[in-house]
Amino acid sequence: MDIIEPEEGEILDIELEEDFLEKNRQLSVKNRALLDKNKVRAIDVMGSIGSGKTSLIQLLLSILGKKFRIAVIAGDLTTSIDAERLRQPEVKIIQVNTGKECHLDARLIERALKSLPLSSTDLLFIENVGNLICPADFPLGTHQRIVVISVTEGPWMVVKHPYIFRDADIVVINKIDLAEAMQVSPEKLTQDVSGINPNAKVIPVSCRYKKGIFEVVSALELNLSNKGII
Ligand code: MG
Ligand code: ZN
Repeated sequence: MDIIEPEEGEILDIELEEDFLEKNRQLSVKNRALLDKNKVRAIDVMGSIGSGKTSLIQLLLSILGKKFRIAVIAGDLTTSIDAERLRQPEVKIIQVNTGKECHLDARLIERALKSLPLSSTDLLFIENVGNLICPADFPLGTHQRIVVISVTEGPWMVVKHPYIFRDADIVVINKIDLAEAMQVSPEKLTQDVSGINPNAKVIPVSCRYKKGIFEVVSALELNLSNKGII
C-alpha cells in the first residue's frame, strides 16, 4: 500500500504554525500563573462531539458544587447549548464561541479568565470544543486534562488519536452501559490508552446511570491543592 506523508518543511506555513504554537504555550504559562495566584484548580475537558463532556461536567458539578466554588468555561463553535445545560445558580459560566476554530486556545482562555471572579473560585472546568485532534497542541494553562471518549465512537478512538491521550491525566470511557450493544470492549480501550500513556488514569463511566463518577472525582485529587475548604 502506498502511504503519503508530508516531508519536513513540506506543509505550507510550517514556520508560522510553530510560531503560533509557541505563542500559545507562552500564554498558557501566563494563564497558569494567574490561576495559581488565585488558587484556582483548572481542568481541561476534551473529547469528540457527543462523547459526553457536558454530561460529565454536569454530574461533577452536582457532586462538587456543595464543597467548591465552581466556574465553567464552555467552548463551542457557535452555540451556547452546553452552557445552557450547565447553568445553575451557584456556578459562574462563560461561553466562548470560537467561530471556525475547532479548539480553544490560551488567548481565548486569557480573555475568559478576565470575566471570572477568580479570587472566589476554587475549581474551573473548561469544556473544550468537540474535537480529538488539535486541542492536544493547544495547552490552556490548566492543571489537569481529561479526555472523554465513548464506546459508541467505535473501537479505534484511542489508537487513531494518540497525541491527545499522550498528555491526558484522566481518560473517561463513557457510555459503558452500551458497550455490549456496540461490541466495543472498554478493557481493550483501556489497554490502548495504557500503551500510549501508562500514567493516565482510565475510568469506565456511564453518565446516564451515574456510574464511575466518584472514581473521576477521586482521580482529580482535589483535596491536595484547593483553598482548604474540604
Ligand atoms: Mg458538550
Ligand atoms: Zn482546532
